[in-house]
Order: sequence, then C-alpha cells, then structure tokens
Amino acid sequence: MGEARRIRLAMQRQGRLTEGTLSLLRGVGLQFESYQQRLLTPCRNFPLDILYGRDDDIPEYVADGTVDLGIVGRNIIAEKGAHVEELLSLGFGYCSLVVAVPNESSVQCAEELAGHRIATSYPHSSQAYFERLGVDVELVELSGSVEVAPALGIASAIVDLTATGSTLVLNDLRQIATVLESEAVLVANPASLGDPGVEREIDRLLLRIRSSLAAKRYKYILMNAPVASLPAIREITPGLKMPTVVPLADPQWVAVHTVIAENEFWEIIERLREAGASEILVMPVEKLLM
Ligand code: ATP
Ligand code: ZN
Repeated sequence: MGEARRIRLAMQRQGRLTEGTLSLLRGVGLQFESYQQRLLTPCRNFPLDILYGRDDDIPEYVADGTVDLGIVGRNIIAEKGAHVEELLSLGFGYCSLVVAVPNESSVQCAEELAGHRIATSYPHSSQAYFERLGVDVELVELSGSVEVAPALGIASAIVDLTATGSTLVLNDLRQIATVLESEAVLVANPASLGDPGVEREIDRLLLRIRSSLAAKRYKYILMNAPVASLPAIREITPGLKMPTVVPLADPQWVAVHTVIAENEFWEIIERLREAGASEILVMPVEKLLM
C-alpha cells in the first residue's frame, strides 16, 4: 500500500485558463486562496496543494513528478510531447491551432506551402503536421505576435492558435487548415497513478470533477401531466432512469420529475408540451453521480 500524502496540481497562474480552472476547482468545493504569488497554496478541505505557474512549464512539472496533476491546454501537451496521462477533457479553453495565410495570398491549402517560410510559436506541432502531409517547409520560430509575421515579410504563412478567428481577421489572414483542436485537460504523472496512496486521492478528486462536469450536461425538470399522457411522456424522456411519477390531489393528473440532457433540451420540451405536459419547471443540476 502506498502511503497517503498530499497531492499537487499545477495550473496557469495568469492567463486564459486561469479563470476556468479556478471556477472548476471551486465548483467541486475545494477551498483555497487564489493569492497566486505563493508557490504552493494548500486546500483547506482536501489533501491537495496548488502550484501556480506558466502554462508552458506545466507539462514538464507533471512529466517529471514535480506535481501529480496539471490543468493545461492540450495544445501545450502536444507541443512539448510531454509524457503524461490525459485523464479528462474539461470543457473550457477551446481553441484550434491553424494554418493561415494573408487574404491576398493565392495559397488555398497546406500542400501549396511547400518551400515557403512559416512563422509559429508551435514548432514541434507544425513540424509534425507538415511531415505528415509530406510537405517541406521552413519554420521560423517566434515567441509571440506570430500573426504579424506575414505583414512584416518574415513568413508567407503562420501556424497559430485561434479561438474565434478574430485575431486572424484583424490581421487580414485567412485560415486554410487545422493542425489540432484543443481544450483544457486534466493530466497526470504516470507514476503518481501507479502509487495507490496517491491514486486514491486523485480518484476522489476525479469523481468530484466528473460529477460537476456531468451535471452541466443535464437539467432537472418537473411537470404536471394528465395520467393519460404518461406513456407518451415516458417515451419522450428516457432520461438517466425512469421518471418519478407523483400523484396529485386530482386523480386525473400526476407530477413527473426527470433529468434530461441539455443538448436535446428544447426538442424534448416541445414534445412534452405536445404530449399534454404543462407547468414545466426546469432546474440546473448541481452534481450528478452515476
Ligand atoms: P503564460 O504566461 O502562462 O505562458 P500564455 O500567454 O502563453 O500564458 P495564454 O494566452 O493565457 O498563454 O493561453 C493559455 C492557453 O489558453 C493556450 O495554450 C490555449 O490552450 C488556450 N486558449 C484558449 N483560447 C485561446 C486563444 N484565442 N488564443 C490562444 N490561446 C487560447
Ligand atoms: Zn505560455
């Protein structure tokens, strides 16, 4: 049996992933200071210490065992080629690593970039991408402001991150290909997962994060319906399990409670109304344990 010890998690100190990560951790009930100048911040109610760092350093912290867990963009894990285990996609920090060219360029696809100079802060991901395509390009590594490289004449295309595409538009660039899709992920050090004392705490944390992520995908609904509509309602709301049916003072009517998936929410509500349900009350689900 491995001995129980406090586990460590690295997250971005300040940047695009910080807010989403803090709200995820707070959303599972962890209590800690977000005074990010401190190296390690202890959670008061869980054997977890949080380390705030640059996002670029997080894969290495996790891979070398400085921390057991990390929350970082999948794009950074891919770029660093870090030897870590991806445990969960976290549903925020969505972005894509894309190939873009100036609007006036005649280039229509990545294959047409053979022999061109391409600016990027993601040299490894870019290299691997063009190698997969069998296209020979010259990569120019820049640490920032990659989007201005074509206008400066440094490169004829870029490989850069974009979420909404607005930076591309602003710089008169047009996306021609996608290198990878990314979002924030929870990653673990493989040896930590192999240590029973540590793994137990990681599992406790994982259960909490999963239940919180799952809850966001569902709504709890209550409705009144004529008894005669019940078969149709059961058909429409397979839910997670059978709906709960509660008798009302009027024997012709019942109250129905069930859980439905957010992504088919409106479609189901419309069908319920057609089936005769009324006074439909919708509530968020806070945690969902299955
Ligand atoms: P650090 O100071 O920690 O090195 P940074 O400036 O390198 O920060 P940010 O710009 O904060 O990093 O981006 C962090 C992560 O947020 C990215 O690696 C990516 O996973 C994600 N992200 C989400 N949307 C975008 C976007 N529009 N542009 C860039 N990154 C994005
Ligand atoms: Zn960074």
